[in-house]
Amino acid sequence: MRVAIFSTKYYEREYLDRSNAEGRHQLSYFDRALTEESADLAIGADAVSVLLGDAVDAGVIGRLYGNRIRMISLRSAGYDNVDVEAAAKVSIKVFRVSAYSPRAIAEHAVALILALDRKTHKAYVRVRQNDFSLNGLMGFDLFGKTVGVVGTGKIGRAFCEIMLGFGCKVIAYDIRVSETMVAKGVQYVTFDRLLQLSDIISIHCPLTADTRHLFDASAFAKMKVGAMLINTGRGAVLDTAQAVASLKEERLGNLGIDVYEGEESLFFKDLSGSVVQDDMIERLMSFGNVLITPHQAFFTREAVEQIASMTIGNFTDFEDEKISENEVKGKEAMVSRSYVNEMSPDVIAEAIY
Ligand code: NAD
Repeated sequence: MRVAIFSTKYYEREYLDRSNAEGRHQLSYFDRALTEESADLAIGADAVSVLLGDAVDAGVIGRLYGNRIRMISLRSAGYDNVDVEAAAKVSIKVFRVSAYSPRAIAEHAVALILALDRKTHKAYVRVRQNDFSLNGLMGFDLFGKTVGVVGTGKIGRAFCEIMLGFGCKVIAYDIRVSETMVAKGVQYVTFDRLLQLSDIISIHCPLTADTRHLFDASAFAKMKVGAMLINTGRGAVLDTAQAVASLKEERLGNLGIDVYEGEESLFFKDLSGSVVQDDMIERLMSFGNVLITPHQAFFTREAVEQIASMTIGNFTDFEDEKISENEVKGKEAMVSRSYVNEMSPDVIAEAIY
């Protein structure tokens, strides 16, 4: 199959070529993002492959359809940047990499927690300036703290296991309950209870209509004063302006983010020689208790290898017309957030999966 790979990153090509060593697919690499204009680069190809920064909206899909593209392959787990319904209307199939090293992301969330708690990001800079004082470096023990996990899918479950290992009390909110996690000691609660009880909250749900700005002004108001919030899910699950407001009021104690609402114009780019136009991220960076990483939670050797081999496998499965769990059939059917909030933890616990 001929595939036009858009937004190719420097580290990807080697792994994709290695996974395609038998040469079954003809891969053409483009640094450019997929847009209505660049879609013509895919003329002659059967499929396009994209990353999360590529906004594959109805306009782009119309252009791909005109260029006889039959498949869109995401080199990511999330697919909120692709208009799946628009693709289905013109019979373009959408594939993603449904699971790759969930531990890579879970471990990065823990890295953010430990750095913010023990202030290693500050100590690193200080010690290099020969300042060996302890002023302002006091942290807290994780043992015995309550950690709230929003979304206990593959990544959330890996994260729960690590935090249980630290001796934390782990509570969770999800529209489905994982029996495995309950057996390991995770207690499911409503979203509001999770906000009220948690010393640390970590976000591992996808971005959907129900989770967009799940952390809004009212959610921040319900959180414990001084709590830590970690987001390695998707930027827009947080209302960033409200996070800034809560930090300014000294209610939100620490914020660690690997994803950001406006990340498309910033992340994966070296902007060190330019003036950054995004005032919100500049404001966030001005807080000592905020740690930002540039969507690198997935970035381990193991994860990149798995993304590459699963992407090549998706091309093969599509060509061979095999049924694949990586095919995205439409937006996930969601129980509405207000409904879930009305449910008691016991009722939620009955919805075991
Ligand atoms: P998953 O599908 O295995 O799990 C998602 C969980 O969220 C499921 O248990 C689902 O029931 C739950 N959920 C869905 N809607 C919800 C809602 N309204 N409220 C509460 N819970 C809800 O996905 P995963 O592989 O664990 O990945 C989770 C997310 O992590 C992805 O969607 C993606 O956005 C993000 N991610 C980030 C990186 C990174 O590098 N930062 C890498 C991979 C994935």
